[in-house]
Amino acid sequence: MKLYNTLSRTVEEFIPRDGNKVQMYTCGPTVYHFAHIGNLRTYMMEDVLEKALRYAGYDVKRVMNITDVGHLTSDGDTGEDKMLKGAKREKKTVLEIAEFYKDAFFKDCEKLNIKTPDVIEPATQCIPEFIKTIEGLIERGFAYIADGNVYFDTSKIADYNALTGHSSDELMVGVREDVTEDTSKKNKSDFVLWFTKSKFDDQELKWDSPWGVGYPGWHIECSCISMKHCGEYLDIHCGGVDNIFPHHTNEIAQSEAYLGHKWCNYWFHVHHLNDETGKMSKSKGEFLTVSLLESKGYNPVAYRFFCLQSHYRKPLVFSYEALDQASATYNKLLRKIAGLKREGEADMEFVKANKERFLKAIGNDMNTALGITNIYDILKAQVNDATKLEALRDIDAVLSLDLVKDEETAEAPVTEKSDFEREIEALIVERAEAKRAKNYARADEIRNDLKTRGVTLIDTPQGTTYTID
Ligand code: AMP
Ligand code: ZN
Repeated sequence: MKLYNTLSRTVEEFIPRDGNKVQMYTCGPTVYHFAHIGNLRTYMMEDVLEKALRYAGYDVKRVMNITDVGHLTSDGDTGEDKMLKGAKREKKTVLEIAEFYKDAFFKDCEKLNIKTPDVIEPATQCIPEFIKTIEGLIERGFAYIADGNVYFDTSKIADYNALTGHSSDELMVGVREDVTEDTSKKNKSDFVLWFTKSKFDDQELKWDSPWGVGYPGWHIECSCISMKHCGEYLDIHCGGVDNIFPHHTNEIAQSEAYLGHKWCNYWFHVHHLNDETGKMSKSKGEFLTVSLLESKGYNPVAYRFFCLQSHYRKPLVFSYEALDQASATYNKLLRKIAGLKREGEADMEFVKANKERFLKAIGNDMNTALGITNIYDILKAQVNDATKLEALRDIDAVLSLDLVKDEETAEAPVTEKSDFEREIEALIVERAEAKRAKNYARADEIRNDLKTRGVTLIDTPQGTTYTID
């Protein structure tokens, strides 16, 4: 496998430390809201990476954290705590919010055929590990206490900017929103390991520590959770490009300071999904979630197909037109495959040779678009249908596009929703939004308008359904 390594800024041969075993760590979601489809692009490409490594014969252990404490609205140490923000928004406790959105995240992952990692660890379950590591950093002279908080001293690290290749000053500009300079810091790039005093709203969840009652910073959780489950060495660490600085830069600084040696050899970063206005957001514009796509009649796996058509190291612009196009191509492909006859013996030599071709594509810095081309190559090949089905099933272990249905479901036609059904579903979403905004006049108008067109809306605890006269 060849992969682009952010640390070396080159495409390198991927060589794990321990022969066949791969220790893989993925920064997990901050569970204060639903994941948007941009977040899920990152998890999807990491899923392809994990499956590609397994397909290539590696024994992968994948660990993911759940951020349920310490992530402020800016990725630095300023702004409101995201979990608290979610709890206030929904008038629930932080733990209730965390539980609900963690479940919602994994439900979305399931719909997108993203495999659940081998280990999932919420940050709130690892407080003793965070305290032990912070104590170690203080002992070794890499951390200091100022005004009640414990800070990491970035001036003690020779190559703090190794991952970004930029200077700290360059990185400060434009990365942090709402920057209020923290006067307790010795250096601009120092970051909080443990808060006992926040300038912002008080935390709901706090723990006792040698430095007073408080809570951990965001960055320390990933270092500690990785060490807890993968030990002192990590082969590959993944995230979205926005994680490179400050999050991953700080993870490297504190992990290597604590361990006294290099920690992780490969850094894999997925570029962003943007909407047509630029950045994808949970608060501005349309909040693009998997459920929203479903309510508009899209199959979530068609969104996976859309993402896999592009390279993970290029930003991708989302539009409904582009998704429509990808959906149409995907459905056509499924119809073609559904037409293959399940008769005769598969030629396993062909399947084996195809495996090599597929690995060459996917092993070339995860060229998923070429991986998709391989589907068409299989369909065009001069082999019987049974062989085609076997080869498709084989590569779908990585692509996870539901290419080959089980025998029982094979006959089920691929249904496409009518324009009318899509319109009704879009109006149901608009009505729910209107209700949330207390615009009951608009909500009633939608219900009455649909009624005159023969559509009756039925509100249930699970959401709104409808009948057509
Ligand atoms: P968060 O839940 O905010 O911690 O983000 C979860 C993951 O989504 C992180 O790995 C981010 O780097 C990634 N991410 C955030 N925004 C985007 C985006 N627009 N496109 C792709 N990945 C993103
Ligand atoms: Zn992380």
